[in-house]
Amino acid sequence: MASTPALSTPSAGASFDKTTIERRDLRGDDVQIDIQYCGICHSDVHQARNEWGNSIFPMVPGHEIAGVVAAVGADVERFSVGDRVGVGCMVDSCGECEYCLAGEEQFCVRGNVQTYNGREYDGTPTYGGYSRQVVVKDRFVVEIPESLELQDAAPLLCAGITTYVPLKHWRVGEGTRVAVIGMGGLGHVGVQIAAAMGAEVTVLSQTLSKMEDGLRFGAKAYYATSDRETFKKLRSSFDLILNTVSANLDLDAYLRLLRVDGTMVTVGAPAAPDKVQAFSLIGGRRSLAGSAIGGLPDTQEMLDFCAEHDIRPAIELIGADAVDAAYDRVVASDVRYRFVIDTATIG
Ligand code: NAP
Ligand code: ZN
Repeated sequence: MASTPALSTPSAGASFDKTTIERRDLRGDDVQIDIQYCGICHSDVHQARNEWGNSIFPMVPGHEIAGVVAAVGADVERFSVGDRVGVGCMVDSCGECEYCLAGEEQFCVRGNVQTYNGREYDGTPTYGGYSRQVVVKDRFVVEIPESLELQDAAPLLCAGITTYVPLKHWRVGEGTRVAVIGMGGLGHVGVQIAAAMGAEVTVLSQTLSKMEDGLRFGAKAYYATSDRETFKKLRSSFDLILNTVSANLDLDAYLRLLRVDGTMVTVGAPAAPDKVQAFSLIGGRRSLAGSAIGGLPDTQEMLDFCAEHDIRPAIELIGADAVDAAYDRVVASDVRYRFVIDTATIG
């Protein structure tokens, strides 16, 4: 075991402390990574505050990890020391079920092992990327393309894959009318990916305060949802709506913005249940769907896609001491558009 500096929270909603945690000795198929940057996802806030009711404390969050390989186990062939690599939301899965074999490890029948706030199959709690070093099975490590800076790549490991997969799955392409609800960490990457896929993208944000950025990210239109006129004007407009909002919404109002056969896919994960009126679906043979992160092959494909299309998250780089304040700003929708921790400041 080797100890490494980390940022840990002892209980729900408590502030972060600098501490040290243990990382396991390298197994044959392990990669030891010097973490350089880790993004702050709203899921980190949900879990550090135990909003989903499944939190394990102490907690070291972080599933948007970018760094450099420091050592590899004896059987590792895909990586060598010095490679630029990333780790997202998962660090293990059974590897044998139909979903693992299809590269959709997020749906592993045994349950995948989450990068933090999870347990290894032997029961050991997992600790995430708010730390200096991590040891991860090679199957869960991806290559960061040369043209992507590590700090820009970090948010793609969750925000990128979580938006790329539903856009791909629902076959977004040239001319598809896509709306993205919420222009935060996920949303601002989703807008860029959908635009790069050829979609005609509309942002539905609470206010118009980020309109200029939205248009720069590739949106053709930008509306404020605080203005009820928006919902009248946009009735039956979209083929696909990507809901990235961390809070409950009036889903019926948004479903009515779909064309016949349109789909609203929810990636936002509010703790409380949503309500849906059946008629909002029946009326236009509409679908309400969900999507969870993405598997390893899609994660690599997404990174390569972002590199090729020059897609970059807009980040605010912060030090370890600013994480508590950053959480409050995420909750206040005051993030432009992803906080990224410079992990060198952890210790
Ligand atoms: P974020 O940066 O906080 O962005 C969420 C955005 O939603 C905000 O910027 C805001 O955009 C909008 N919003 C917030 N509160 C709202 C409210 N009360 N009403 C309407 N709009 C509101 O969060 P994120 O990191 O992108 O994550 C978003 C959600 O996705 C979280 O719930 C997270 O847990 C979840 N998530 C799910 C997956 C998955 O696999 N499905 C993966 C990662 C994250 P505007 O200011 O533009 O309105
Ligand atoms: Zn995330």
